[in-house]
Amino acid sequence: MIRHLIGKEWVDASDGATFETRDPHDGSLLGTVARGTAADGDAALTAAREAFDDGPWPRMTPKERAKILHAVADAVDAHRDELALTETRDGGKTITQSGHAEIPRVALNLRFFADYAAMAPNEAYPDGGLLSYTLYPPAGVVSAISPWNAPLMLATWKIAPALAFGNTVVLKPAPQTPLTAARFAEIALEAGLPEGVLNVVQGFGGDEVAGPLTGDPRVDRITFTGSSATGAAVLKAAAPNHTPVSAELGGKSANIVFADADLEVAVPQSIRAIFAGNGQVCLAGSRLLVQKSVMDEFLARFTEAAEALVVGDPKEHSTFLGPLIEQRHLDKVAGYVDLARTEGATVLTGGTPLGGLYYPPTVLTGLTNAARCAREEIFGPVVTVLGFDTEEDALAIANDSDYGLAGMLFTQNLDRAHRMAARWKAGTVWINTFFERDLRLPFGGEGISGVGREGGQYSREFFTEPRAVMLRLRDQGPR
Ligand code: NAD
Repeated sequence: MIRHLIGKEWVDASDGATFETRDPHDGSLLGTVARGTAADGDAALTAAREAFDDGPWPRMTPKERAKILHAVADAVDAHRDELALTETRDGGKTITQSGHAEIPRVALNLRFFADYAAMAPNEAYPDGGLLSYTLYPPAGVVSAISPWNAPLMLATWKIAPALAFGNTVVLKPAPQTPLTAARFAEIALEAGLPEGVLNVVQGFGGDEVAGPLTGDPRVDRITFTGSSATGAAVLKAAAPNHTPVSAELGGKSANIVFADADLEVAVPQSIRAIFAGNGQVCLAGSRLLVQKSVMDEFLARFTEAAEALVVGDPKEHSTFLGPLIEQRHLDKVAGYVDLARTEGATVLTGGTPLGGLYYPPTVLTGLTNAARCAREEIFGPVVTVLGFDTEEDALAIANDSDYGLAGMLFTQNLDRAHRMAARWKAGTVWINTFFERDLRLPFGGEGISGVGREGGQYSREFFTEPRAVMLRLRDQGPR
């Protein structure tokens, strides 16, 4: 039984209700989970509020907090294989990704923000007898709501800065993938995180446990990652209390391949951009724009590489695509491909469900950027390929989207790459690469892809109440 962590107690739902979490590979039952009620959300907020108002955590120095967060990171490293397997079984993420990318990134999130909070530069302006400087006191109680597609990595992208800057947290993981958050909380308590500083409630959306997390005046910050539609509901729930929200939402990112690109780089990176994580990645390059003069050669190589990808049990190291998360999601992905066919698409490869929750890498051509498959987030292993003639055309198509999360481009002309990055409606632009990150840089999206930025100083601004202090000195002493 997976319970909520409220304060230091592991508790059932207030009404005893539960839900199940199953392995998307074979449907086997992995756990029965407390189905949080609004009363549970309320109790978790009370615990987080008490820990903030009366507990040691906000009163520690950033260095003291960093020491504990590093101990938690060490414990995550020590449990890496166990956490990776749990993540793979709960969400279908390949073991290669869980073990070599996501769980190591959990530890990195903790270490990076622990050190950033302790070491970040602070502004101070001595101006004659006036000394002006900024304080960054913690904001208070943070609600963190995370999605299923990179469960613990994204949860700690929120928890780590919130804690490092001295806040207390109530985390609600996605109901599809509740396991690693619960295990992480256990590990963190054992590693020395004080009680009440991190609370974890399990369950569903705004009518249930998430209601108080977004609509209660005791919440000082909401950090949300999920779909653009849910993001809008969270913003609405937060508005009456004027609670600041950081929202990292959906994407429909363009991946632009110019004729002068090195195809030895562009083909494998474009494959990763859409098929890694089964396309269940907010940043996925789901609109592939290829310069027409190189379209035939690129598509031949890209389709061959897509067909060579291994689809299967995510616990096998050779697997590149595991199962989709759940039946409802598979139906949605398959429905988009059926829709594409009626909109006149050619399915170059894939397009037919493989049984269970498995769906093959699928390449669609023959659509325009006006087609629903080119405009809406499918969130599966489905790429829409579009041709273009000039740099201006490519940029116009890329920016013709309600989303604005990321963009990738492949070219050997770095003047052009830099020009395009400056005019791209996207929170992140990758040039001749994909998915690399420096946690000091801002992360977030334009349009319906998000509100605000997190990372480095951007996280500090969100998770603290920056305060201007002006100190007038009466006696400056002899010069
Ligand atoms: P979702 O919006 O359905 O759910 C996200 C979380 O919100 C879950 O924990 C869910 O239980 C909770 N929730 C649902 N209704 C709520 C409500 N009314 N109030 C508060 N919380 C509520 O998203 P999902 O299907 O879990 O995740 C996939 C989506 O997340 C995709 O759109 C993807 O692009 C996006 N995403 C974005 C980023 C990013 O960094 N921009 C990263 C990963 C995923």
